[in-house]
Formats: sequence, C-alpha cells, structure tokens
Amino acid sequence: MSGLIQVLPQSISNQIAAGEVVGRPASVVKELIENSIDANSTNIELFVSNGGKTLIQVVDNGSGMSKNDAKLCFQPHATSKIKAIEDIYNIRTMGFRGEALSSISSISHLELRTKNKDDKLGISIELQGGEIVEINPVGIEQGTSIAVKNLFFNVPARRNFLKSNNIENSHILNEFLRIALIHPEISFSYHNDSKLIHRVEPANFKKRIIDLFGKSFNERLIPIEEEVNEVKISGFISKANFARRNKRDQYFFVNKRFMRNYYFANAIERAYQGLITEKTYPIFFINLEVEPENIDVNIHPTKTEIKFLDEKLIYAVLHAAAKKSLGQFTLSSEIDFEQDQSFFATPLKKGELPKLPKVETNPDFNPFEEKWFKPKPKGTSQLEISNRENWEKFFEEDSKVEERLDIRQSNDSIQFRNKYIITKTTSSVFIIDQEKASERILFEQFSNNNYQNISSQQLLFPYNHFFSPQDSIKILELVPELKEYGFVLEYQKDGSFNILGIPNNINIDEIEVVLEDLIKDLDSDISSTEPMENPSSRRYKMALSMSKKLSIKHGKELDNEEIQGLIGQLFSSNNCEVSPSGHKTMISFDKDGIDKLFG
Ligand code: ADP
Ligand code: MG
Repeated sequence: MSGLIQVLPQSISNQIAAGEVVGRPASVVKELIENSIDANSTNIELFVSNGGKTLIQVVDNGSGMSKNDAKLCFQPHATSKIKAIEDIYNIRTMGFRGEALSSISSISHLELRTKNKDDKLGISIELQGGEIVEINPVGIEQGTSIAVKNLFFNVPARRNFLKSNNIENSHILNEFLRIALIHPEISFSYHNDSKLIHRVEPANFKKRIIDLFGKSFNERLIPIEEEVNEVKISGFISKANFARRNKRDQYFFVNKRFMRNYYFANAIERAYQGLITEKTYPIFFINLEVEPENIDVNIHPTKTEIKFLDEKLIYAVLHAAAKKSLGQFTLSSEIDFEQDQSFFATPLKKGELPKLPKVETNPDFNPFEEKWFKPKPKGTSQLEISNRENWEKFFEEDSKVEERLDIRQSNDSIQFRNKYIITKTTSSVFIIDQEKASERILFEQFSNNNYQNISSQQLLFPYNHFFSPQDSIKILELVPELKEYGFVLEYQKDGSFNILGIPNNINIDEIEVVLEDLIKDLDSDISSTEPMENPSSRRYKMALSMSKKLSIKHGKELDNEEIQGLIGQLFSSNNCEVSPSGHKTMISFDKDGIDKLFG
C-alpha cells in the first residue's frame, strides 16, 4: 500500500498553528500591539469593531518595514528578532517565534500598510486566508498599520465559538490593560466601535495605573521596591484597608511581560495575613526584572505562564518586600463594632499597641433564611452575643411587641461619641451602633423596593467623570437601577459620564469610590436577574452595597429627631439585631444582666 502520510499544504498547517496563537480576537490584539512595541513605537492606537469579529486594527509610529520585509513577514517562522539558537536564551523582545502574522493572516482578511525611514513610499499588502491578493505603493508616514478583518472567516468552528461582543471586548480590554500598564513610556489609545475608551499619554508607572484604573487608586497604593542579585522588584501594592473581594486587580509582569503566577501572588497575599479579612485580596502591580536567561517564556504558546530558575528565592524576596512596604505605612483599618471593646476593656498600657481588628463574618449568613430570625441553641452561631439568652427571652416573650413599641416611644435616648445611641425600655438598656443600624434599616427598605428615604440632590453643574472602561460598561447597564438609589448619570459620546444627581448623604468627591466599590461588590453577577431573595443576585448585592454606602456613618452628630427616627425604624425592621452583612447592630443588658455585672 502506498504511503498514507502526506505533508500538509502550508495553508492548512498555518491554520493549525493559528489555533495555538489565536484563540480569540483578544489574542490578535496582543500579538499586534506587541509587534508595535518591538518596533520601538512611541504611540500605538487600537481600533476594534464588533468585539473584534469584524475589525482589529493597530496603528503605530515604529520602525516600519522595508517592502521586502513586508512581503516576508507573513511567512511562517519569519522573524527579525532571532537569528541564531543562542538568541532564544536572551529574548528582550515581546515576540520571537515569527508565527503571529502568518497565523493571523491565514484566518482573516488582512491589510498591512508600512513604511520605514529609508523609503519614500510605503507599501500596502492585502491578504485573504494567507494569500497575497494585492500589493500597492502608498504614501504614508513612517510606521505600520495592520487591519485584521473578518477573523476566522474560513474557520467556522472557531467563529461559532466566539462569545458575545461584550465578552470578547472585555478580553480585549484585559489584553490592552496588561500591555498599556507596563509600558507607561508609550502613549496608547483604544477605540471600540468608534467610541474612545482610553487615551493615555506617556507617564510614570504610578500615573499610568491611575490613568487606566481611576483616581481612587492614587490613595490606595503604596510602593514596593527590592533588589537582590537575582531579581529586581518594583511597583505598587494596596494599603491593607483597600482589600478586594476578588483577585482581578493583581498584576505581575516579568521583564515587562504580563504573567500569571499564583505562587508569587501567594507571597504577596501572605504579607497581608492578619491585616485583612479572609477571602479578601490585595491589589498589586509588580514588575520583576530578571536576566532573560533565568526564565523560560517558551513553555506556553500564549506566554502568560513563565518558568523561573529560582522560584523559592523570588517568593521569599517578594514576601519580605511586601511586608516591609506595609510596615512603613500606617495600617488604619476601620475598627469594627464587634471588636471594639473600648467600653469595657482595660485601657492600653503605655507603649502597648492596640490589637488590629479582626472582622469575622459568617459566610453562611443569609438574613432571608428563617433560621436567622429564630433563637438558636447557645454556641451554634458566630453571631453569638454575650447576652444571647436574654435576647432570646426578650424576643420570645409575648410582651415583645409592647417592648418594641416602648423603645420607639422612648424619648430619653442619647448619642455617645457620635457613634452609638444609648436607649432603654422599662426592662433593658440598649447600645446601638448608628452605622450598622442604619445599614439594616436601608437594606430592609431597599429589599422592599422602597427608596423614599433616599433623596437625591441635583447638581448645579453636571460633574463629568471617566470611569475605567471595564467599569463604564457595567455602570452603563446599571444606570436605571442607580437612579432609584439617587444617582442620576448620563453616558456621553466620549465614553465619560455626566453625573447630574447624587444621593443626599454622599459627597460628590466620593462618587467615584462609591460606584467603583459597587461594581466590585457586584463582581461578575452584574447581569444576573435572580430575585432579591437570592443573596448572590445582583439586586441583593446592590442593596447590600448601597446600604453600606448610604448609611449614617460613625462621626455624624444626630439631633433628637434623627435619633428617634433611627431607633423607630430599626426596631420595626426584620432582623433588627444584625446588620445585613452580619454584624451586631446593638447590644443590650436587661435588669438581671446589669445586676449580675455589679456582682
Ligand atoms: P515575531 O514577532 O515573533 O518576530 P510576527 O509574526 O509577530 O513574529 O512578526 C514577524 C515580523 O514582522 C517581526 O519579526 C517584525 O520584523 C515584523 N513586524 C511585525 N509587526 C511589525 C510592526 N508593527 N512594525 C515593524 N515590524 C513589524
Ligand atoms: Mg510578534
């Protein structure tokens, strides 16, 4: 039988290679921008249409190519970046495999225009499925423009696996951010469906982070620096009081290449142990500089995993550097009511440091679940309060309703340290945390679609603000709901928002942080339409986040009427004894309890 083995035609083998390099439009964005960086561009512009499905174009002002190179660059393994095998061990460019352009061109309609500094005229080359269909001279400036149209036009299987434009756009944005972040010396712009999403000018690293992620990052970050023989670390980590509920804003770069590394991330996270709650994570933007020969970027085709020669050492250096930075900055973390024993605790001795608050919440806590309303046997819940039994008695008694009414009508309540309200009934004394109580009240109202306590102030002059593009997309979706909470926002053509109204109890300069935190709190469930009763639903999370943001804060002085209002509303709420996030809103002592305290 004659041979079954055939050498695949070039076009097919290119398409197979394309599968490795080009998973989705975002991979094309990455390869094209990296090529522009390798060509020493100082300005790079990205244009995307329809989630990258119809157009991805990158225009740069870099070295450009000669006419000959322009024709060659689509050949497989065509690269100007390595000449000999030794070069592989000393890679200082982003690309080197010479397979991106051949792969991308084999699965798209591609148009290249390029001119180097020696030629008078540039060259324009059009390809379809990797075949050159047209070549023309063009009069252009030095630099390169590559437009990739109709990606996967000849690979229906891939095309059908593409996700919605929104999802593809968010992958593209991630690639853009990863590259733009660590090349602050280059100016970038990013247009999506003709809307300008980002334009960043040359800056230092910190400024670049702020330009891309928003002004609020300015006060959230502290520098981290360390240098030993094997590695130089530089960048920024978040202060302990700005932890996140997800790991989204954790960026490692190695020699200016984005890298995922859970092991190194753990070195940083461990430095925060005891400073932040479990299941929250620090933010960081860290570049590691190592000798190229000490890493292997070649183990994964899309190169976000990088192998190090000396991982343990780098782990130790990272961990120590993060601890050092954190130590140099004051660790102010909001003291939680539950841990604030200052009422009763013995005063600190001279030179003794106050214990850092440890906030414990019960992950199973769900205020909509019946069991949380009912008294529980002692010792079963983290919400256990010292006088739990008294409480249980209190709520079990038939006189409960009268007692509640009694509290609401009581007029002799006082505010203490602008933080607590002390009130009494005939049989008990209550100390109420005004902030936690207010959260409970608002949460109850929001859960019942009652927003009447929110009054919105209209701003005299609209306040214009650019959110990060990731956030903008989400905020746009939330505009109608935000209005109920008193935020009146209008999306502008240039990608910014005009803020026309805000709830009364927040300040215009807080708006950015409030909305950004909301997005973070909602996390990925932004489009969930689950009913309110489900704690993972968007509506629930939104009510939770907003009740925290719009609550009466510690430090606010309340007049008598406000005090009475707060007490009245609190005791009419379900679950009045705990805040929606599971903290105590009050502690109480009945007369037996007080007698006992006096022995
Ligand atoms: P690699 O980047 O691995 O070398 P590519 O397929 O991405 O391979 O690119 C092939 C070659 O085309 C590059 O080595 C470079 O010489 C040239 N090239 C690609 N993009 C540009 C650009 N924007 N400016 C100048 N030259 C480019
Ligand atoms: Mg390349």
